[in-house]
Amino acid sequence: MSHEVEAFMQEVIGRDPDEPEFHQAVHEVAECVGPLLDRHPEYRRARILQRIVEPERVISFRVNWMDDNGDVQVNRGYRVQFNSALGPYKGGTRFHASVHLGIIKFLGFEQMFKNALTTLPMGGGKGGSDFSPKGKSDAEVRRFCHAYMNELYRHIGPSTDVPAGDNGCGGREIGYLYGQYKRLTNRFVGVFTGKGIDWGGSLIRREAAGYGTVYFAQELLATRGTSFEGKTVTVSGFGNLGYHAIEKLNELGARVVTIADEDGFVHDPDGIRGEKAAFVRDLWTVHRMSARDFAERYDLRFRPGKPWQVKCDVALPTATENEIQLEDAQQLVENGCMCVAEGANMPCTRDAVRLFAEHNVLFGPGKAANAGGVAVSGLEMSQNSMRLKWSRAEVDDRLRRIMKGIHDLCLETAADFGKPGNYVVGANVAGFRKVATAMLEQGLV
Ligand code: GLU
Repeated sequence: MSHEVEAFMQEVIGRDPDEPEFHQAVHEVAECVGPLLDRHPEYRRARILQRIVEPERVISFRVNWMDDNGDVQVNRGYRVQFNSALGPYKGGTRFHASVHLGIIKFLGFEQMFKNALTTLPMGGGKGGSDFSPKGKSDAEVRRFCHAYMNELYRHIGPSTDVPAGDNGCGGREIGYLYGQYKRLTNRFVGVFTGKGIDWGGSLIRREAAGYGTVYFAQELLATRGTSFEGKTVTVSGFGNLGYHAIEKLNELGARVVTIADEDGFVHDPDGIRGEKAAFVRDLWTVHRMSARDFAERYDLRFRPGKPWQVKCDVALPTATENEIQLEDAQQLVENGCMCVAEGANMPCTRDAVRLFAEHNVLFGPGKAANAGGVAVSGLEMSQNSMRLKWSRAEVDDRLRRIMKGIHDLCLETAADFGKPGNYVVGANVAGFRKVATAMLEQGLV
């Protein structure tokens, strides 16, 4: 590590010592952008790196709601408005017991660069709460969402900050959140993305993150002259992103052999397709069932641990941060895995990423590979502004082109900075450069 990066990281960690995920995300960017700062002394003079890691605004608020027993519950809500150089703050909402400020800051920081890579006019932000919908009744989820919006509504707006979903915040939650926003403001505007198709949502938004990750991985494979046809693929999370990745992988002739959750994974050597795949789609959203329930229903093997021990050609981590640790990466490499594309945000640790690079494993970092979700969110915002709706084919075509554009930009930027084939360098430098240039042009605001 260079002295400059080391000193910078000490500053960042010293300021907020309890935010390891945020430090991890910042560290990766700081390590990549040194050569860019050398090329642009004006970035250093304007202290862009020091400014870019500081959120423009952090909102933390109390969320009190009543559970089904009539007991009062208190959660903590957050919205981190990270950077608005490129457009209104934009990014998802995570509802999970593990949420704390450091998690939302890491996600907001990543989001800023991811959104920049899409080329659409969106700044970066993220929000959420330490509330987990898992195990709660529908009425409890609704009461929580309404309570969360009772505070959030005053901080967001179609030209200010446009939230969306993330882990634990899907179509149901977005409906309740949007409904309460509308009731409080008396305005039907494009303030959320991932909305229902009949009330302002975009076609393909639901599929976008999963499809987009697969489109990106297709581009990765194409650089080695191959495709998904006949490839064995391991997938972890089976939420909105995981399921739609599986759907697209099946369409492309791949064999998806795992899904997983916090308790373990299902191994289906025949491939999760047809009726089984359709059931995965509804597993949580309709049936509120687990991976173990899925294994029992189809008489498949359920094993504790992670799916990365299963031999595969391509691995798509689609669950959560740091789900691929060094030992998981070692196992993937030993088993001959040739490509890893991050569907989730930062699912691979820094050590794992380094190992993939050492072994020439194609690696697509989340801020590039999973940008399809927010890209179609950007298209949803465009459609809302025009009060028009595009067809599935039109949105899917734009998504494909955006993913290819991101891929090519990462590849070109990596080569330009002397690291051919390194998409981590490509994504970080290209995303950073765009935000930094806008910050510079807008002055010291
Ligand atoms: N949570 C998603 C992400 O990580 C989507 C964000 C959005 O659509 O605003 O990119």
